Amino acid sequence: MNLTDRVVVVTGGAGGIGAALVRRFVAEGAAAVVVADLAADAARAVAESAGPQAHGVGLDVTDEDQVRALVDDTERQYGRIDLFCANAGVATGGGIEVDDAGWDRAWRVNVLSHVYAARAVLPAMLARGGGHLLMTCSAAGVLTAVGDAAYTATKHASVGFAEWLAITYRDRGVRVHALCPQGVDTPMLADGLAAGHLGAKVIAASGVVLTPDQVADAVIAGLAEERFLILPHPEVADYARRRA
Ligand code: NAD
Repeated sequence: MNLTDRVVVVTGGAGGIGAALVRRFVAEGAAAVVVADLAADAARAVAESAGPQAHGVGLDVTDEDQVRALVDDTERQYGRIDLFCANAGVATGGGIEVDDAGWDRAWRVNVLSHVYAARAVLPAMLARGGGHLLMTCSAAGVLTAVGDAAYTATKHASVGFAEWLAITYRDRGVRVHALCPQGVDTPMLADGLAAGHLGAKVIAASGVVLTPDQVADAVIAGLAEERFLILPHPEVADYARRRA
């Protein structure tokens, strides 16, 4: 897949990785990039700085009606969605002491939102004969590194769901990609360090923190090669190869 003339949606588009994806998709020639985020004003600011092809909207990815409305509005306005990036995520620090509300939030944002995205975009993609879904998962979804319990568990679930989608729909033209970065220099990592999250400390200590633009480079390459697992960190790719 290349991005020329494509219609793209990026959730969590106001965040570190999301904003880098938005800027790169515009630079690669996308016809339209919808920047959707719980932080609506920040989404609009990212869109404004990315260029006239981008526009920002408020979205809570854990509300299925809102996800469906975003997809319907985008298809009405631009005719189709070629690539939907389910990128919003939350880092829940802690271990088994995290309460049910914390586990529920991690589950709803990191996993259930991907189900809502798939339900909303797949019917039109299948009717048109194809499309692309990029699920931002995490290296915490393919490695069992020391980290935070709910984040590790929900990111493993997100990789599992992405793989299920990829296998189930590949014969009908839909390509699914699981983006699994490790440490990336974004507000999520900074907030995790400030809050003393173990996962953030392990990442910072590993010395392999990438910039969001480096992640965007890996996404462009992964989409071009139609890869399922997109692993921007070489050491994660080595681990995945050894495990496979
Ligand atoms: P970030 O905190 O900068 O961005 C996350 C964005 O998601 C924010 O703009 C936030 O407002 C948005 N968001 C959160 N809940 C939402 C909701 N309910 N509805 C809509 N938007 C919501 O973090 P980031 O590092 O850019 O994270 C992007 C993705 O990358 C996440 O899925 C994260 O788990 C994943 N990831 C990050 C790292 C890292 O080290 N930063 C590593 C691996 C994976």
